Amino acid sequence: MAISTTSKNLKITNVTLPGKKGYWNVAIADGYIAEITTAIATSAETEILDGKGQLLIPGLVDAHIHLDKALLLDRYPAVEGTFSEALQKTLQAKQDYTIADIQTRARKIIESAIAFGTTAMRTHVEVDPILQLKSMEALLPLKSEYDWGITLQLAVFAQEGITNQPGTESLLRQAMQMGGDVIGSAPYVDPNPEKNIRLIFEIAQEYNCDVDFHLDFLDDDAPLLLPVVIEETLRHNWHDRVCLGHMTKLAGLTPAELASYIPSLQEAGIAILALPATDLYMMARQDTHNVRRGVAPIHRLAESGIKVGLATNNIKNLFTPFGDGDVLKICTLLAQVLQLGTHKHHQLCLEW
Ligand SMILES: [Zn+2]
Repeated sequence: MAISTTSKNLKITNVTLPGKKGYWNVAIADGYIAEITTAIATSAETEILDGKGQLLIPGLVDAHIHLDKALLLDRYPAVEGTFSEALQKTLQAKQDYTIADIQTRARKIIESAIAFGTTAMRTHVEVDPILQLKSMEALLPLKSEYDWGITLQLAVFAQEGITNQPGTESLLRQAMQMGGDVIGSAPYVDPNPEKNIRLIFEIAQEYNCDVDFHLDFLDDDAPLLLPVVIEETLRHNWHDRVCLGHMTKLAGLTPAELASYIPSLQEAGIAILALPATDLYMMARQDTHNVRRGVAPIHRLAESGIKVGLATNNIKNLFTPFGDGDVLKICTLLAQVLQLGTHKHHQLCLEW
């Protein structure tokens, strides 16, 4: 149930709350939750909204989405449905983006997300020699346009690499100057991933912003880049300011191997996001039977106190030809894939 009110005092009655038994009333005053109680006292000017026994939860967070490459499927449908086709055609699609086109697609997703109950969203904003600052110019005005319903955070994102794309480093700085909130990249596409990671940390330090990498995505035998990110996080004192999306390679680790990363992840305060819609679709393509899932085992990390979450990532493009921006559907998908079926698990999934 999405609630939008301009009235000063609101009371939502007869709702259930996560982790609590029975029915509750929630009093809101001046836009803040003032009281949660089973009894109800109202005055003449209080607006009452009957929750009719439904579950009341805080606004949902979509911590990783790509508004600039959402909804491309109409113009570039999957013919082969392969990873290489997705890479090649999405790169092709990028050449034709206009600011108006990016905004039209982004608005559709933002409006759907608000209707689904999302109140905070981190979108990655591609910056490279092809797009230059076009995505940034398109998405920046949407922050204030939709601030009535959603907090939109812009993560400036080098999708095509940095060391292999002359000019990208300077464009990233320009994008931060324009109003980027977070900086990040996809080191796995860079021929020098370690340098890519170090450059991102340098920019983060210059702009005092959080860091968000697309990391350890794929299921090959190349070593994890996670140790490099951990090392840089500690070296820059960037504790609790780094988020890593995908991390599909963690799914291929033995319990002992996974456990070996826990202490340093805890120390660095690095958060891990599972992106099951894309990862299930893209990973393990070479498996002919008993196909691996390739979704980061965030439930195992959460058991050790690592901050984890889930998000939508792509919507209706060649990397994920599905989705509608509803993060709760992704939550259900994750619960199924990671086999999280107990009541306690469901509560955790909702928190993530
Ligand atoms: Zn992504």
